[in-house]
Amino acid sequence: MPEIYDLHCHSTASDGTLSPSAVIERANLQGVTALALTDHDTTAGLTEALRRATDINLKLIPGIELSTLWQNQCFHIIGIGINPNHPPLAEATFNLQQTRLARAEAIAEKLAKKRITGAFEAVKQLAGDGMITRSHFADFLVSQFHVDTHQEAFDRYLAKGKPAYVATPWADLNLAVSWITESGGIAILAHPLRYQLTTKWMKRLLTAFKDAGGQGIEVITGRTNKDEIQRVAALASTFDLAGSCGSDFHCPGQWVELGQLAPLPTHIQPVWDLLN
Ligand code: AMP
Ligand code: MN
Ligand code: MN
Ligand code: MN
Repeated sequence: MPEIYDLHCHSTASDGTLSPSAVIERANLQGVTALALTDHDTTAGLTEALRRATDINLKLIPGIELSTLWQNQCFHIIGIGINPNHPPLAEATFNLQQTRLARAEAIAEKLAKKRITGAFEAVKQLAGDGMITRSHFADFLVSQFHVDTHQEAFDRYLAKGKPAYVATPWADLNLAVSWITESGGIAILAHPLRYQLTTKWMKRLLTAFKDAGGQGIEVITGRTNKDEIQRVAALASTFDLAGSCGSDFHCPGQWVELGQLAPLPTHIQPVWDLLN
C-alpha cells in the first residue's frame, strides 16, 4: 500500500486546537499514513505525537514550520525529518520562543493604545505551554466582542499595516535552512503563493533558497487549486526542487482537513523520496 502523506499541520504546541495526540488520531481517521507535525517555531509537540503515532502504527515525520526573514519579508520554511535535539535547531526554537513572547507583549501594548486591555494575559492563557501566535490574539479579540470573526481580527488589527502589527526579528532564512539541513532534515518553502511575489522576486527568492540548501517547495497545500498547482509545479521543475504536500490543518471544522490533498503532479519528484 502506498503511504498517504500530509507534511504540514499544527497542534496546541502552536496555534492548532488539537493536542499532538489528537492530531495523530484524526490524521489516522482521515486515512493519512505518514504525517509531519510542523508547529510554528517549536518541536515541543513531537514527543507526545511520536508516542501516540507509535501506538497506532502511523508514521510520524518530525517537523517544524520556522518563521524566517529574507529581504525584510517573512517566509515560512518547513523542516521535515529534522532532529529536534540538534543543538543549533534546539537553540533556535528556544530563542524564537523568547522572540514570540516579546512580540506578544508589544502587540498587547499596541492594542492597549486602542483601549483593548488584558490581551497579554489572555493570550498567555490561551496558548498555555505552546507558542503564542497572532491566532491567539485573534481568538481573544473575538471572545471580547471587539471583532466578529478571526479574519476580521487580522483585517482590523493584526495584519501588516494594521494598528497592532509588530515587525518581528524572525530568524534569517539562510540560517533557518541550515539549522534544518544540519539536523538531518529537508527544508521546504511553505505555501509559496501566499507571499504575493512578482515573478522576478519569486525567482530571486527561490535562487536564494536553493543557495541556502533548500530542497523542496509546497506544491500542494490545503488551499491550492489546479491552476496554482501547475504554477508551483513549474517553479519546482525550473528550480529543481522536490514537491511537498501538506494541508496546513489547524482546527477541525475549518475547510482545510488533514489528508484531503490533491496528488502531486507525476513529473514532480516527491520530497519523501529524499527522506532516509
Ligand atoms: P504568526 O503568529 O504571525 O506566526 O501568525 C500565526 C497564524 O496566524 C498563521 O499561521 C495563520 O494561521 C494566521 N494568519 C497570519 N496572517 C493572517 C491573515 N492575514 N489572515 C488570517 N490569518 C492569518
Ligand atoms: Mn498557524
Ligand atoms: Mn505558514
Ligand atoms: Mn502552517
